[in-house]
Amino acid sequence: MDLWFTENHANNIKYSLKVNKTLNVEKTDYQDLAVIETEQYGRILVLDGILQTTEKDEFVYHEMIVHVPLFTHKNPRSVLIVGGGDGGAIKEILKHNSVERIVLAEIDRKVVENAKKYLQNISYGLDNDKVEIMIGDGIKYVNEHKNEFDIVIVDSTDPIGPAVGLFTIDFYKSVYECLKDDGIIVAQTESPFIYGNLINKLSKMFKQIYPITKPYICIIPTYPGSLWTFTMGSKKYDPENIDTNNIPKIDTKYYTPQIHKAAFILPKFVKDIFEEV
Ligand code: SAM
Repeated sequence: MDLWFTENHANNIKYSLKVNKTLNVEKTDYQDLAVIETEQYGRILVLDGILQTTEKDEFVYHEMIVHVPLFTHKNPRSVLIVGGGDGGAIKEILKHNSVERIVLAEIDRKVVENAKKYLQNISYGLDNDKVEIMIGDGIKYVNEHKNEFDIVIVDSTDPIGPAVGLFTIDFYKSVYECLKDDGIIVAQTESPFIYGNLINKLSKMFKQIYPITKPYICIIPTYPGSLWTFTMGSKKYDPENIDTNNIPKIDTKYYTPQIHKAAFILPKFVKDIFEEV
């Protein structure tokens, strides 16, 4: 009999992938975790029934959450990732030679362990010498570090469970303090088709804190709604004002300097969501 993984979203959407093999299922201190192998997208990490990342399309999300802020900043040397225990963002950050220090503040040790064991194509950067893995609440870590990072990447789960606090104004204010004077925050801010109200609220929060607030988009086939948003808050650099000739060539599958610029051009309904007061 065929086995299918089905993600239930917002109690009114179901997405399914055919499963070849179940590699692990466990209950961690924070969430239900599964790693399964699917026919179409390779191995996937699932937390609380929600697909987090797949071997086949992870590059879109991870390249866009990393290269857009890092190439907007003129000389990123220190990067903090809140969440992101699968290591996908780290793999991309390591392509930037200027970066000397990467801190991963991940609440769930089991995500890191499972990524290392089952998702080596994604997680191989976790053992790099530049990486410090801090197991604990990213909110606490941010509160305890001031003026320390060039870039903060909020690579979180959806706003449920331990991630709820990562979608609040208090958290974004505390990230502002954690950043250096020309620092940049980027957060994954969900699909405009499903989380429009949340995106609008987050955009208002960012605008209260960061002098430059810019949303950008990409397409991720395995995420509900497919069209995905990130929100950038920047103290100094404008991500749309980059000189594309100065961007060094790195090995990517989605990101290009042209995509960097194009990602800030929003469909009208998405622009409305971000701008509606
Ligand atoms: N990189 C993935 C992708 O491609 O979409 C996304 C998510 S990553 C697996 C999200 C991580 O955020 C999870 O491992 C979860 O444990 C972590 N997380 C949730 N709340 C957190 C918090 N308050 N502090 C630190 N990590 C948190």
